Amino acid sequence: MASDSAKFDVRTHTALHVLKGAVVKVLGKDALWTASTYVDGSHGRLTVKFIRKPSPEEMERIEEEANRKIAEDVQVRVVELNRDEAERRYGNIIYDLYPIPSSVKRLKIVIIDNWNINACNKPHLTSTGGIGRLVIRKWRFRKSKELLEISFDVVRGIDKHG
Ligand SMILES: [Zn+2]
Repeated sequence: MASDSAKFDVRTHTALHVLKGAVVKVLGKDALWTASTYVDGSHGRLTVKFIRKPSPEEMERIEEEANRKIAEDVQVRVVELNRDEAERRYGNIIYDLYPIPSSVKRLKIVIIDNWNINACNKPHLTSTGGIGRLVIRKWRFRKSKELLEISFDVVRGIDKHG
């Protein structure tokens, strides 16, 4: 499917932030840099710079940690501030490998406490619980580029309203 037909979905996009936090928690700081993200409806893909294929245990833990954070239904905060102030306060971890143009002087910083922090101007859920559940469908490690691609779907969680 052509990427220009991709449909934005706020649940799937918010899930990218949650998944990224789980990836860094399990794989460590070597997996800190996001190379690209993709959302098309309930399907998403996170690509991070990484040096090896994760073990099956690590893959399992990443999915578990992401779903634990969703189940906790923690707040997704957005603070808007001047770019130099954002850099001073949070450091370069707010950035991804794809640059924000230098003409952009004000940033929205998306924060899931003790989990993920990222400059991002897209809309988000106000808390993680609304994501439902995240199911990882495919792992792909591209050794030549040192890129780890994680494809997932968001599905409805247990419906409390029956
Ligand atoms: Zn975002």
